[in-house]
Amino acid sequence: MENVQPLHRDVAVANRIIERFGLSNAFGHVSTRIPGTPTFAFPSRRSPGFANENELLVLDTDGNVLSGRGTPNSELWIHARIYALRPDVNAVVHAHPPACVCLTQIGEPHRVVHNQGAGFVDGVAEYDAIGLIRTRALGDALAAALGGRVAVMMRGHGITTVAADVRTATMAACFLEESAGLQLRMLAAAGGDAGRLRAYSREEAERLSDQLSSPIVERAWEYYAAVAECRPLGG
Ligand SMILES: [Zn+2]
Repeated sequence: MENVQPLHRDVAVANRIIERFGLSNAFGHVSTRIPGTPTFAFPSRRSPGFANENELLVLDTDGNVLSGRGTPNSELWIHARIYALRPDVNAVVHAHPPACVCLTQIGEPHRVVHNQGAGFVDGVAEYDAIGLIRTRALGDALAAALGGRVAVMMRGHGITTVAADVRTATMAACFLEESAGLQLRMLAAAGGDAGRLRAYSREEAERLSDQLSSPIVERAWEYYAAVAECRPLGG
């Protein structure tokens, strides 16, 4: 298991990032696929702020707990069924970030309105059913709504982001909440008239679509991880 330890560490840090940066408080979770398998490392049923790399559970895509102590988070089906349906996905983030939830409830799709939002140039999926994803069938429905995209907004609930690695999926979640927050402020400043937003054209957004590429993700992760782990930024 030695080779998966750095991955487990990233998962623990990612969970603490989504809590520390306000994407989740008591609820929310980040997981990683155990490389090359239909299994994934997942935190137990506590705030993501408590995640510990030595206490992760291992689950399979049928929702069985294969190892570890404790009860998994009840929305484990989000992770299980996305891993089952998306072999390209090695990390899943589920959080309840307030700006994204607000967007889902005013009928506004995500729009690319600032540079970091351009990572979502192919669109953010929308899942309109309310309530928690606590069954296999609901997990399958959410995975179907996500399709081949990076992110799905879940009405009145939150978001799920996916990527080939934990750091990218986590930064995608952070960038998406930042983007939604700016979009809401712009809408408010424009009197609620979405037509006044100077959303990026597809061509403009594509020029910045490297926002979720490795160099940018690593640069952002360095900062977010340091804050989440309460490491001093100076010196
Ligand atoms: Zn949730």
